[in-house]
Amino acid sequence: MSPETLVKEPFLQSDESSPFSGDRFDSYVMTTYGRFPIALERGQGCRVWDTEGREYLDFVAGIATCTLGHAHPVMIEAVTRQIQTLHHVSNLYYIPVQGELAKWLTEHSCADRAFFCNSGAEANEGAIKLARKYAHEKLNIANPMIITARDSFHGRTLATVTATGQPKYQKGFSPMMPGFHYVPYNDIEALESAIAELDANERQVAAIMLEALQGEGGVRPGDIAYFQRIRQICDEKGILLILDEVQVGMARTGKMWGYENLDIEPDIFTSAKGLGGGIPIGAMLCKSFCDVFEPGSHASTFGGNPFVCAVALSVCQTLEAEGILANVNERGEQLRKGLSAIAVKYPHLIAEVRGWGLINGMELKADIELTSIELVKAAIEKGLLLVPAGPKVVRFVPPLIVTAAEVDRALEALENAIVSCESR
Ligand SMILES: *Cc1c(COP(=O)(O)O)cnc(C)c1O
Repeated sequence: MSPETLVKEPFLQSDESSPFSGDRFDSYVMTTYGRFPIALERGQGCRVWDTEGREYLDFVAGIATCTLGHAHPVMIEAVTRQIQTLHHVSNLYYIPVQGELAKWLTEHSCADRAFFCNSGAEANEGAIKLARKYAHEKLNIANPMIITARDSFHGRTLATVTATGQPKYQKGFSPMMPGFHYVPYNDIEALESAIAELDANERQVAAIMLEALQGEGGVRPGDIAYFQRIRQICDEKGILLILDEVQVGMARTGKMWGYENLDIEPDIFTSAKGLGGGIPIGAMLCKSFCDVFEPGSHASTFGGNPFVCAVALSVCQTLEAEGILANVNERGEQLRKGLSAIAVKYPHLIAEVRGWGLINGMELKADIELTSIELVKAAIEKGLLLVPAGPKVVRFVPPLIVTAAEVDRALEALENAIVSCESR
């Protein structure tokens, strides 16, 4: 196909007679997603437009990914500059901007070193491999076990879907990977007895892998006392603490990393979603004591290429330069206050509002028929994009540059959506 034909036939046609959506889309693309019935083609800041020209307030941000919203000038500049300079060369060579990004990340976190890849799942795979290698080489554990939490989410590759403590994601893909054990989240007694049980015969537990706040599992913040006790246990027993910061890292919670909300430091943590502001990049970071990787241990062809690193670095620097953390805290508070006021008005529908910074969830009552998907559909009709986090929780993860006026407008659209659900 010539470039001219490609331009004439864009993937999402705005021509109403033949939009590349619905059945036509599904006949070409595997139907692994349940998609909402709109096709988006343009974005600016916290707003996006569909192929019919309808405007939406974007409180999904590509699932907590578009940190700086859409078409941010800093990203446009970084993308353009780097694609004109050098976009990909592989890790056969030194990539200066990869080093710069690793320097920024380590200077702004508890980690000493970074490994770059392309997604959250891949970053978690790296963390799992690093923990296993550490267990074999430094702890002399023959069968290293990693404890993860129920209702967690760590990705869709075989190892990370096994780490994910939700049977619905594992169904149909057995056999699962060996080496994982699940405990209920925020339950210290269950964790301690699991460790004791696993270690009863021979020492087995190599690592504990958790989210500081469970995102996909329903926007459930970690309990401070729980995580502090885990840190103590890990220190006492030489167990590695891995935190999956894929969704909550990069200022999403009002702190640079989710673990800062819990006053602890992990030994290993992963980042992806917000890291490149919507450009695919993942990172696995660790303290130097557990960096047992050596040349040949692990790799990724695309990982940390000049293009994604330059964009991610521009996102990181903008977070700092434009006082975005303060905005996350202020807008987060404004949003939670507004959501709580709505919860008070509709107590028969809404059970709870919870979250940190700009990752918030509104849980619907268990004993009503209304599901998160239905409410999200109603919100789309009112011009607001939201994303479910499980069957009963609606998640609010706008770009971190969202304004006070946009939060007010989102709250208004949400209330309109609730009213329309009620009158159905
Ligand atoms: C989204 C997510 C992942 C998976 O990231 P992908 O980029 O989709 O592979 C892993 N962990 C958490 C906590 C996530 O939210």
